[in-house]
Amino acid sequence: MGRWQGPVLAAVELGGTQVACLVGTGPGDIRAEVRIPTTTPAETLGQVGDWLAGAARRWGPLGAVGICCFGPVDLDPASRTWGHVTTTPKAGWEGTDVAGALGRRLGVPVGFDTDVNGAALGEHRWGAARGLRTFAYLTIGTGIGGGAVVEGHLVHGLVHPEMGHLPMPHDRQRDPFPGCCPFHGDCLEGLASGTALQARWGARGEALHDRPEVWDLEADHLAAGVMAITLVIAPERVILGGGVMQTPGLLDRVRQQLDRRMAGYRPHPRLATGMEDFLVSPGLGSRSGVLGGLILARQAWRSRRPGA
Ligand code: ZN
Repeated sequence: MGRWQGPVLAAVELGGTQVACLVGTGPGDIRAEVRIPTTTPAETLGQVGDWLAGAARRWGPLGAVGICCFGPVDLDPASRTWGHVTTTPKAGWEGTDVAGALGRRLGVPVGFDTDVNGAALGEHRWGAARGLRTFAYLTIGTGIGGGAVVEGHLVHGLVHPEMGHLPMPHDRQRDPFPGCCPFHGDCLEGLASGTALQARWGARGEALHDRPEVWDLEADHLAAGVMAITLVIAPERVILGGGVMQTPGLLDRVRQQLDRRMAGYRPHPRLATGMEDFLVSPGLGSRSGVLGGLILARQAWRSRRPGA
């Protein structure tokens, strides 16, 4: 994929707490961007549509919109509910036709994927996964999700990977917190998401920065998840993004805990002590997802897929 020669594009990253929107063609050509709080589907998608329509009048016409959305979502192009949020526990959003709503409003082709697959695309093209064939991107925020590129292709299977729901080794002597996943209790998301941190310790992550026991436990849970992903897909690198990973020193703690958990099993030098080149922060900061949306928009423009 060389330099973009097509029209200006729109990208939307729909997250659990806010929506990032931008209009442009790539990281070096962002014409406008905004963040909008995630509330009800009608209000949120209405505001996103209004902003993009306004940006299209100023910078457009837009060629396509690429949307990466919190899940679970329907990614089957043959499905009647392609582009819908499916069985989310997020109140009010179950069954929302995200792709259709924005495609109809803007009258342009729509590209659609999960938030973390979008972030993986952005990191692959412009960020910390440039030149890699196989890697994983995990976000640790309100929830936990993971996207994977394997042999150069995003993984889309029966649904999409649900790495946040990995089962976890859980020492209840050390960590009596039962977990907060509404489905599984103590899965990875149930033990290590921002929601779990707040429920376990009774304070938001930012208020806990000076308590090392909080972050030792958090790093240990995250390392268990990363280890499982590492052993299943053999990634060349794992990128850890999301709000919780902004905590000072946490990435290094996860590297240390992963090294401890691997227990001397190091089939590749990149997995040797340190792991600075294996476990990394996003190259695009908090913009991985929304810039991945631009890649989805490029793909949609090329294939001129009808919006809904
Ligand atoms: Zn779960």
